[in-house]
Amino acid sequence: MPDTIAAIATGTALSAIGIIRISGDDAIAIADKVFRAKSGTKLSSAENRRMYYGRLSDLDGQLIDLCLCMLSHEPESYTGEDTVEFHCHGSPVVLSEALRALFSLGARQAQPGEFTKRAFLNGRMDLTQAEAVIDLIEAGTPAAAQNAAGQLSGAVGAMLEPIYLKLLDITAHFHAVIDYPDDDIDDFEMHSYQSALCGAAEELSRILSTHERSRVLREGLPTAIIGRPNTGKSSLLNMILGYERAIVTEIAGTTRDTVEEKILFGGILLRLIDTAGLRKANDAVEKLGVERSFASMRGAGLVLMVLDGSEQLRNEDHDALRSIPPGVPKLAVINKSDLPQALDPDEISDLGFVSCNVSALTGEGLERLDAEIKKLFPGSVIPPSGELITNMRQAEAISRAKDSINLAISSISASVTPDAVVTDIEAALAAIGEVTGKTMREEVITRIFERFCVGK
Ligand code: GDP
Repeated sequence: MPDTIAAIATGTALSAIGIIRISGDDAIAIADKVFRAKSGTKLSSAENRRMYYGRLSDLDGQLIDLCLCMLSHEPESYTGEDTVEFHCHGSPVVLSEALRALFSLGARQAQPGEFTKRAFLNGRMDLTQAEAVIDLIEAGTPAAAQNAAGQLSGAVGAMLEPIYLKLLDITAHFHAVIDYPDDDIDDFEMHSYQSALCGAAEELSRILSTHERSRVLREGLPTAIIGRPNTGKSSLLNMILGYERAIVTEIAGTTRDTVEEKILFGGILLRLIDTAGLRKANDAVEKLGVERSFASMRGAGLVLMVLDGSEQLRNEDHDALRSIPPGVPKLAVINKSDLPQALDPDEISDLGFVSCNVSALTGEGLERLDAEIKKLFPGSVIPPSGELITNMRQAEAISRAKDSINLAISSISASVTPDAVVTDIEAALAAIGEVTGKTMREEVITRIFERFCVGK
């Protein structure tokens, strides 16, 4: 019999509304002792998922709040157990007084993520959906939230289920032949399953490839802001961010280290990296900064080459323009458009750059830059249905499943005995089961739910 847990679900800040959740076998009985509906309805006979207005009092009958109360009966509730929610005024004092009354009646404080953990253990969601709950809460961008919402509705489980069932069919056939030799079951021919296994491995590879793309969603596209000193790299970063983050000075070589900030710009989460100016460094610290500039360019998913439009191209600019590794998406940002222009834009396009005139001082041209970045990364970077594997744990297990299937495929080609092949397939099944939570060790589950906040 699961004990009854209670927690404030809406955090500790002052807010218009604060919600207390209770879940467990005694949730309704406990709530009934502290809540009186104005309509006179007892909670034990209240309708499922209907809001009741009434008085929330402590055990001495002292009024705590006038609030709304809603029951969700098991098994259709979030946790799969009887749950009660009180929608109170969002005062931390009111909420903690209400919680105290519930504790004195036998409810206990819920651990972080315990409501969702119960939902998982009661089969209301698989593990990928449970993990999507926290991803959705923590989503830093609309795209990340969109992906998490898709996963919350079971997108990852839906991708893996057909593979799981196919592998299960193979092992079931094998065991049926072994366990019921006298029955009229088709012979177990490993070779007949080779193409199904290849298909499964390919599909797992495709799913895994989304994990790499999902890094952009979580960490942002590494975007190196490159150029010789004083072209306005730090100013551009600040203008994009809308506040002063990097030090801007007139002395060349001020940005000695790299400065990183994330921002949604050009329809994509950019991890902007302001680098030390690219030039021949005189002192050791600056030299290190210049080296890091080159390193950030090598790992970049986008390079913004900043040029000073008020001057003609210098040799250092030519060096910088040529230093971008081939294949890295790039844009020339011709800065200082507020000053009389001396730079010939044809020279830039001749070098294979799309260019964009901006003034990091006035903000003029930023919309054009936003549009040019959108053109480089057209459409949404994520499929809308949540099919992007964002979670490291899931990616690692999928990778193990793929390896085991590939091992099984090689074993079939090498005519290894079926039982050895089936062992590999079973390992793949176990690994896929780990992703969705079908096969899972208790300590792993505990670790997953520790990431959650109390009340979720
Ligand atoms: P960085 O060395 O490339 O990072 O260049 P900074 O951002 O430190 O800017 C160097 C100098 O150029 C500073 O004095 C800035 O105020 C100035 N500056 C930067 N952008 C513009 C711009 O768009 N117009 C004008 N007129 N000055 C700018």
